[in-house]
Amino acid sequence: MKDFLSPELSNQQQWQLVKQHLEYASRKSPFYQRLFKAKNIQVSTIKTEADFRRIPITTKEHLQRQNLDFLAVDYTEIIDHVTTSGTLGNPVNFMLNEADLQRLTYNEYESFMIAGVTKNDVVQITTTLDRRFMAGMAYYLGLRKLGAGIVRTGSGLPGLQWDSIQRFKSKYLVAVPSFLLKLIDFAQQNAIDYRSSSVKGVICIGESLLNEKLEDSALRKRIKDLWDVELFSTYASTEMATAFTECELHKGNHILPNLIYTEILDENGNPVENGEAGELVVTPLQVESMPLIRYATGDMVMRIEEKCICGRTSGRIGPVLGRKKQMLKIKGTSLYPQHIQEAMNTLGISDYIIEAKNDEFGNDQVCIKISEGIGLNLVQVQNKLRDQLQIKLEIQQLSASILLQKKFPKESRKPVIFHDLRSI
Ligand SMILES: [Zn+2]
Repeated sequence: MKDFLSPELSNQQQWQLVKQHLEYASRKSPFYQRLFKAKNIQVSTIKTEADFRRIPITTKEHLQRQNLDFLAVDYTEIIDHVTTSGTLGNPVNFMLNEADLQRLTYNEYESFMIAGVTKNDVVQITTTLDRRFMAGMAYYLGLRKLGAGIVRTGSGLPGLQWDSIQRFKSKYLVAVPSFLLKLIDFAQQNAIDYRSSSVKGVICIGESLLNEKLEDSALRKRIKDLWDVELFSTYASTEMATAFTECELHKGNHILPNLIYTEILDENGNPVENGEAGELVVTPLQVESMPLIRYATGDMVMRIEEKCICGRTSGRIGPVLGRKKQMLKIKGTSLYPQHIQEAMNTLGISDYIIEAKNDEFGNDQVCIKISEGIGLNLVQVQNKLRDQLQIKLEIQQLSASILLQKKFPKESRKPVIFHDLRSI
């Protein structure tokens, strides 16, 4: 197994890794060779962060349109073929060779360590391990390196999840937070004493557990009120191939600076001031097959500058406040679908989707579609949302079966709550 520097590395050591990465991409990646030539960039002259910012941003569109130009190793060297989640547009092919799989293993091992998982624990992976999904496999690999017990239940199937928890005494789950609500619901309906189960913690993916004030989100509060398990937020994506993980203090996700160089940029591509939100732009380090430089994630986050009292010196980022392209402008108010989701969680409503459209003048219009048969007074919901969001949103009911189809489309590995039908 390849050795990696510890996450407790100095800025100088990280900069060395960035330089190595630039040098590697300039030699091996057809996309970056062409970009550097076109922009007349010599990587040997990049000595400061300001120099680094001269390199143009790489976007998802680049990856979509010039996918194979990013491949920096021979195709026959590839071991694992995955695709991105495709939250915005078509999924993109991603490929990993042996070194990348070792890096992914190490990354997830560090992530589990931050959440406090040890080799003596049994961990149940309730996300899909196949379906071209990088994360499920990454969890498995990280837990293998850690030496923990692993139960691979895969996604859904609350009955199988509870049966596995009872059989194998799982101490941790890896899960999408809203799936925990489904698990609790199933337990309540089937007289399972979930409160005294073996589960003590959950490594959560895909949904924010903090709000923008770095307080517990409504979703975390809602789960914790029902089931006293420790929830650890993680944030990652296929392109980053790196996890940002909450420690036991639950105040932002720790960065692994030995695996990823991060920038948070404003609209003009300049670093934001401390405490301000901007787009996360990443350079995942020590990647061989598809190296990326200054990749724009589209996620709006903020950096947390103060040192964490857990003792780790690595920086942290706050929750994803929204996807840059999903920003909604309604009657002069800007908000992200996440704000609406947070408000819906505060009201304790789970069975809904959010649809955005353009009206005839091109303005954004948002409609929340709630499942029929859950006995809600729509006017009351509308008023309560208006109190929280300061805008009045249209609310409609939808049959439970259609809602289910829209929220869990067959081709998606995750629930799709926000449906953007706006013309771009
Ligand atoms: Zn910490």
